[in-house]
Amino acid sequence: MGDRQEDSVPDDHTAPVDTPAEEIARRRALAQSAEKAEKKSTGKAGRKPVQKPTGRMLGTPVKKFITRKRDVDDLAKLGIETVDDAFRYFPRTYIHPGRLTPLDDLEPGTNAVVQANVVSVTTRPMRQRRGFITSVLLTDGSGQISATFFNQPWLEQKLIPGDPVVLTGQITEFNGRPQVSSPKWLNGDQKDAFVSAEVERPIPVYKASKRINSFRIWRLITTLLDTATEDAAYDPLPPEILRRLEIPDYRTALDMVHRPARTGEEELPAERWKYEEAFALQAELMSRKARSKDRRAHELRLYHGGLRDTFDAALPFSLTDSQRRVGDEIAAELATAAPMNRLLQGDVGSGKTLVALRAVLQAADSDVQSAFLAPTEVLAVQHYRSLRATLGDMAVGAADERDAGELRIGLLTGTQSAKERKKTLLDVQAGRLDLVVGTHALVAERTGFWKLGLVVVDEQHRFGVRQREALREKGTDLVPHTLVMTATPIPRTVAMTVFGDLDVSSLTDLPGGPKRITSHAFSLQRHPSWMQRVLGVVAESVARGEQAYFVASRIETQAYEPATEETPAVPELLGVEDLLVRLRATEQLQDVRIGLLHGRMKPEEKETVMTAFAAGQIDVLVATTVIEVGIDVPNARTIVVYDADRFGVAQLHQLRGRVGRDGSQATCFFVTNMPDPSPSFERLQVVAGTLDGFRLAEYDTTTRREGDVLGRHQAGGRSTLRYLSVLEDEGLIGTARDLATEWVDHDPDLTTHPALRDYVQTLIVDESEDWIEAS
Ligand code: ADP
Ligand code: MG
Repeated sequence: MGDRQEDSVPDDHTAPVDTPAEEIARRRALAQSAEKAEKKSTGKAGRKPVQKPTGRMLGTPVKKFITRKRDVDDLAKLGIETVDDAFRYFPRTYIHPGRLTPLDDLEPGTNAVVQANVVSVTTRPMRQRRGFITSVLLTDGSGQISATFFNQPWLEQKLIPGDPVVLTGQITEFNGRPQVSSPKWLNGDQKDAFVSAEVERPIPVYKASKRINSFRIWRLITTLLDTATEDAAYDPLPPEILRRLEIPDYRTALDMVHRPARTGEEELPAERWKYEEAFALQAELMSRKARSKDRRAHELRLYHGGLRDTFDAALPFSLTDSQRRVGDEIAAELATAAPMNRLLQGDVGSGKTLVALRAVLQAADSDVQSAFLAPTEVLAVQHYRSLRATLGDMAVGAADERDAGELRIGLLTGTQSAKERKKTLLDVQAGRLDLVVGTHALVAERTGFWKLGLVVVDEQHRFGVRQREALREKGTDLVPHTLVMTATPIPRTVAMTVFGDLDVSSLTDLPGGPKRITSHAFSLQRHPSWMQRVLGVVAESVARGEQAYFVASRIETQAYEPATEETPAVPELLGVEDLLVRLRATEQLQDVRIGLLHGRMKPEEKETVMTAFAAGQIDVLVATTVIEVGIDVPNARTIVVYDADRFGVAQLHQLRGRVGRDGSQATCFFVTNMPDPSPSFERLQVVAGTLDGFRLAEYDTTTRREGDVLGRHQAGGRSTLRYLSVLEDEGLIGTARDLATEWVDHDPDLTTHPALRDYVQTLIVDESEDWIEAS
């Protein structure tokens, strides 16, 4: 037990508190004012919050109310600049008054408040880690207790043998004697005030610093509560919402948190803070959605006997159930003037492209154009080819007229010759193409469309927000319908929170039934010889006429870096260039044709290699993650991922999706230099253990920090959500969403409650705004 405790994080709320008599008087006064505030708030239900039409209330600096410069500076050091910051600086914990327990009555596992005298104080260095442990022995005559503190050697000056102290904390037992670890404690006058028992109120304990202790923070916050009354009344949540959720208003909630009248009261507003965030976020998303529905799109009617029917009739296979269901959903939505903003998610190989193509055909039937955007040149070319192949005889090039049963399709990439590009641009402008496939070049070159009705974006996580925005602007007077495809499944709560302004469709089954990929993860540290076996597997597969991928995390090798005092050792990370050399030198791959593909190659070079691999002229492709998205070579049956620990869960799943594309048996190896067992290795094992993309997405979400879930695009993984957990608050988010939907119905621009609008501004900043729009 003793050693385990040394690992616990030192609790800084046991930091020293000054004990001037004025503090006591202040506490009494506070207690009274809290009582008054309570009477006021319960007496006058539905108190109207003060609303400033100009907003900015959330930005009132504390120095408007606190005059002493030192106080203002010390608060600033804690990150408290505005009154609202101060109000939202919640206590980390509370000291709760309770009946004092005699020491011989202590029960391990319970929380107790005891009063005892200090017998001895000793400080010694910790055994397992740097730092000090201070043991304080106390007695109340009936028994003894030992209290331990971490890294607070100065306690020796504060706790003097013979002094009476009040302690509270979780009681444990050590060598048959009661013990308490990092208890909260009071001595001197504080103790007297506490023990006098006329105060039943819990005492808030704030995260303090060397410069400012918890008591002073408390005093300043409560001073603000009494003086900055307008700020305290400026509630982001409208009264109607408070009523319906039966949660306290801002002012009442703040009083409950900063000066609860009795134990338990401080917990009452817990949901309120979450609802505040959930409601504001959902209201904003719903408002954006409503605004986009205000705009008009082309009505793309579905004609019997039109292009889509012709295409369906010629399909060599039947649609999967979910392709049919989602297809109907999309078809119906395209037929209306409300712009579609839909996210189509489906595992790798679930047939998203086909769903998109059928939408394109519907658009062409209504004589409007479609743009199909891929994240890279390689993929644009590949999409263009495979779309043409899928369309068969139906695909034709640019032409003045579209003949029955034909789709005019073009390609626009940065690698084409200037002449070629110019021609395609003109064809797009003149309406001589129904579908143009391209990369962001389509956007960057300010392509003017004749009549753009539908934009399909493949793999949104690789595509910039601004680029998509710019493309939407290209609809002349009408905005195009948008279909965004992603192979990264998004858990429901995240979808609701982050993609709340989009409708989501999912392809839940795979053509040809479930995939047959056998995955293995192994550590080179543990099984150095297994690489030979992997090479053997690849060689045999190539001998059968099949192909393989080797993936590395980098282009150039990064050498092993030994551990320093600050950083752990970094194992060598193999680059594709060295990997290629090593593979060529192996005995097993002597007769194998090996090619190289990475992002720093010239586009033509990449193109040549990809074409050769697709044509079977290369057996083994050594590549970086350029192959992660969408590369489709059905004959590839084996993939070996080096330094697999360097990749995220979703990335590994995507990479694995490159093999077994046609449902035939395939093999995947995740190879790492990390030890087995280790957390990094366990992650690889989880991915190797299932092919279910949704399960992996959920695993991924639960193992990453909350900030990462929401803020993939935010520097430092900063989340703007403070109280809400997208992982745990699903029910609450759902309720908030329903309320927000109703609210936006009668207040689409969020103008009727200024505090809500102001709060939304603080919630959605810079990059996170991009993120929300990126949906
Ligand atoms: P995704 O983009 O979702 O990864 P694709 O659209 O690239 O998947 O489809 C993968 C492969 O499956 C393609 O070769 C496609 O032609 C084929 N495919 C699509 N739908 C079906 C289906 N219903 N039955 C059989 N094969 C299909
Ligand atoms: Mg695809």
